[in-house]
Amino acid sequence: MTRSAKAGRLFGDHFLSRLAAEEQAIVANVRRLAKEVLGPNAAAVAQQDVFAWETFRLLAKEGVIGTAFPREAGGTDARQVLRIRIVEELGRVCSASASIVTGADLSCRAIVAGASDELKTELLPGLCRGEIQAAFALSEPGAGSDVRGLATVIRREGDRYLIDGEKKFITRGTTADWFVVVGRAEHDPDCFIAVLVPRNASGFMIGPEVGKLGWAGVPISSLEFRNVATPVANRLGQEGDGFNLAQDALVRARIGHAAMALGRAIGAVEIATAYMADRKLFGKSLGEHQGAQWMLAEMVTRIEASRALVQLAAEKYDGTDPDAGIFASMAKLQATDLGMKVVTDALQLTGGRGYLQDFPLERFFRDAKLNQIGEGSSEVHKTVIGRDAVRRARDLERHPCLKFESLVDY
Ligand SMILES: Cc1cc2nc3c(=O)[nH]c(=O)nc-3n(C[C@H](O)[C@H](O)[C@H](O)COP(=O)(O)OP(=O)(O)OC[C@H]3O[C@@H](n4cnc5c(N)ncnc54)[C@H](O)[C@@H]3O)c2cc1C
Repeated sequence: MTRSAKAGRLFGDHFLSRLAAEEQAIVANVRRLAKEVLGPNAAAVAQQDVFAWETFRLLAKEGVIGTAFPREAGGTDARQVLRIRIVEELGRVCSASASIVTGADLSCRAIVAGASDELKTELLPGLCRGEIQAAFALSEPGAGSDVRGLATVIRREGDRYLIDGEKKFITRGTTADWFVVVGRAEHDPDCFIAVLVPRNASGFMIGPEVGKLGWAGVPISSLEFRNVATPVANRLGQEGDGFNLAQDALVRARIGHAAMALGRAIGAVEIATAYMADRKLFGKSLGEHQGAQWMLAEMVTRIEASRALVQLAAEKYDGTDPDAGIFASMAKLQATDLGMKVVTDALQLTGGRGYLQDFPLERFFRDAKLNQIGEGSSEVHKTVIGRDAVRRARDLERHPCLKFESLVDY
């Protein structure tokens, strides 16, 4: 059946108009790739569940991976307001594609921000072109949500560092050429150090890929470091900068997770509404039933509200606003929890069809969960946001309706 079709989003591409013309062209190209290649191939990528090299190479060739890199390295140094549009487009069709783009930033950000000029010149052009890959190794068996519990020890010996420890859940562990490793200085447990370790370093062991619920096409593995040596010249930033370098990468990654979850939610709504139009039951289409319309209304309203919050977080990051981190937490919490709910409801709306493996919502449903866990779970972000809100409230003027000095004694 042929349909007259209009490209774009259900409620418009309002944030696109805030981008410069060349930025809009990048989004248009990503949308084309999503439509012509990445969307149609997404199910096969997920089914094979090996690193999605073809997707990676395509995104590198088209300069999408390069959006995370500085111009000197051949990249486009994209603002976060552009990156969220790109990631949203990719998340709408294929989580592996979106993860490849957010992961390039997560794994390379500390190199961009903290490597020596020599190291940047050596590594960034190849990373930007997708000729080599990096991985970001922070999480450990004893330190996931509680990152300050890192047990990996880094000790200096002359002009090299020696590393001992374990990392787990590391995306691209089996494919990366370089690893950004964060650990504690042996001489001072409060001093965090980030170093780059090459894949072939002696004593560095990479575990096998681990099966997981979703995000097929971007495998993870564990890493083990036994007296692994890396030159002091491979340190990122100064000794003591490790935690801040990781935090900067994580803030950007949180905004990325939010955009990916929103993109997937938008895609899920498109798929559900297509089914609602086609499916006839009780004498009319599913879309004509008020109960289904109400579900849809909740989804699209909350998606648009969340998009505005994600946009705000990206704007704050681009403007180096000191509140960028807390808004990134809010955006991630809101968009990823909503993403899980929307995908669940969209699957419900598509009934048994949605539950089948040949229908994309089954994949969307499995993929949505990780956005609520990675880069700080929803609970961690609630803790961060709640603590921050209590602190801010202490500094605020009293509400004008409160006329008592003490609210406790009366
Ligand atoms: C597919 C995948 C890819 C990943 N890729 C990477 C990577 O490339 N690099 C990397 O370094 N890490 C990576 N991770 C690790 C990821 O960041 C961690 O899984 C995440 O930070 C949560 O840590 P954890 O799994 O140890 O959960 P835990 O710390 O064990 O937490 C378990 C649960 O406890 C709850 N919780 C935690 N804190 C609180 C609290 N304060 N109050 C109430 N409840 C709480 C939350 O529900 C949380 O989900 C990846 C993980 C996965 C699954």
